[in-house]
Amino acid sequence: MNLFHGVAASPGIGIGKIFLLEQEEMVIARWAIPKEEIKNEILRFRKALQKTKRDMKKDKQEMLNLLGKNHARLADAYLLILEDPILTTDIEKQIQKDQVNAEFVIQSALEKISHTFDTLTDDYFRERINDIAEVGNKILRYLLGKQKRELTQMTEESIVVAHNLLPSDTLALKTRLVKGFAIDVGGKTSHTALLAQSLEIPAVVGLKDISSRVKTGQKMIVDGDQGVILIEPDQSALKNYHREKEIQIHKNQELNKLRDLPAQTLDGKRIELSANIENAEDVKNVLFYGSEGIGLFRTEYLYLNRDDLPSEEEQVEHYSHVIKQMMPYSTLFRTLDLGGDKLTAFIQGYAAEKNPFMGLRALRFCLKYPDIFKTQLRALLKASAQGNMRIMFPMVSGVEEFLKGKELLERAREELVKENVSIARKVEVGAMIEVPSAALVADLITQEADFVSIGTNDLIQYTLAVDRVNENVASLYDPTHLSILRLVKLVADAAHAHGKWVGMCGEMASDIHLTTLLLGLGLDELSVVPSFIPRLKKIIRSIQFSEAKKMAGQIMAAKNLKEVQSHIEKIQLAVQ
Ligand code: PEP
Ligand code: MG
Repeated sequence: MNLFHGVAASPGIGIGKIFLLEQEEMVIARWAIPKEEIKNEILRFRKALQKTKRDMKKDKQEMLNLLGKNHARLADAYLLILEDPILTTDIEKQIQKDQVNAEFVIQSALEKISHTFDTLTDDYFRERINDIAEVGNKILRYLLGKQKRELTQMTEESIVVAHNLLPSDTLALKTRLVKGFAIDVGGKTSHTALLAQSLEIPAVVGLKDISSRVKTGQKMIVDGDQGVILIEPDQSALKNYHREKEIQIHKNQELNKLRDLPAQTLDGKRIELSANIENAEDVKNVLFYGSEGIGLFRTEYLYLNRDDLPSEEEQVEHYSHVIKQMMPYSTLFRTLDLGGDKLTAFIQGYAAEKNPFMGLRALRFCLKYPDIFKTQLRALLKASAQGNMRIMFPMVSGVEEFLKGKELLERAREELVKENVSIARKVEVGAMIEVPSAALVADLITQEADFVSIGTNDLIQYTLAVDRVNENVASLYDPTHLSILRLVKLVADAAHAHGKWVGMCGEMASDIHLTTLLLGLGLDELSVVPSFIPRLKKIIRSIQFSEAKKMAGQIMAAKNLKEVQSHIEKIQLAVQ
């Protein structure tokens, strides 16, 4: 039995046989390029670069659809590397200067980078080096015409061992069969780590050369809590780990027992706990984790990764399918939120904005292209006949915009009535509050809306002027900034003053350390990633609403971030 230490990247214990994703041997030769052929050699290099870029864009779209935004952002990082002079102009210059083949120049550049960075201790930079090497290898593969062994070849339950996992590898993952990951490179912020966490698969990364020490078919234990792996474990290790796994399963079962219990505080305050989804396949997870409905269906995903617009019929079918499965609970459809980091290919000139997060995004886009919007509104209303549905408009910035959206919805309804199409008698219509201006006039919006849902992902970025996808300012992106807490309270108070309910569907709602505070601020509904529902429910069922209000009051009176944090820490201790 051999034991190796790495970085604990995703919790849990995985036991199984190894599936080794082999590192292909790329033998790079050096040959001279005659002067008159240099131009062609550079063209050959550019073509490989283009093909790599095209592949990565395709991967990004597929990742968006399959795994969600966070992973697709990693593909963005890879695309950025492809633009870096290290892998573009520098290579061309070197080919010209040394008059040698492109493969050799790339390989030498990669070796140089890896030597320079070998001495670095900073995890983040080391991670980026792996990324550059992977992108470089992708270009090399095109130049050499080599293909990699894919994860699609996996046929039984396995532990995946690899040097690294590329975003494109992960698309081929049969998640049902993967019991763990053991990876040579990477740290806590590597995409394998994030992927494993979101798929709830145990993972240890940063294992250096583990992929060259094992063979497919050997037994392995991955301990994602301790950051340890065991190759060919002996009987006693197997016994201990099986027992530990049982304990973990039991803990999860305890959480799952809450599935059919209400999300209700000890003193009887009922919270609607619902789920965020991006496509119809997510519904099975929603039901599995005991959600009481869908609080955010990001419908724009149906419009991405394609060259045409989804037709009215296609949309009706898609929406109806979800509504029917969710009955008797309700499904809240957020109308198209294209723009920002979700761009689409089929509207000419549209992607050219300099500042897309501030541009023609979401409801603004829909009001500019009323035909596209109307098709969606008609489809939603047609689907409403199938069960309980709510509709909300994203990125409302003021009451007038909200009313315009409602007017178009009303026109679509009238059209359908004239056409004798059956639709639900009443569909609640709400506004997403994710622009500070909307929060500040929440009193006016809540007079017109049936409900509001706070989109903190955007509210935080627009309030704090921190781009939500820019890692340079990521540390400034703080949900507990008092400005954010004040806006949340303002919106909740305004909604209640007009007898309306208020929800939260941004990531802030998933943070179990903030649940007590959010309840205390008056949130009636929280909509989160499905797998977070049991943990949130457990917390809600263990607190007193009266206490939560008192604590929220204390936090709102804090003078600075430190005071806010210390109150939140106290709450944490109390609910543990
Ligand atoms: C938000 O902004 O908080 C939100 C839920 O919407 P999205 O993340 O899709 O922009
Ligand atoms: Mg948003």
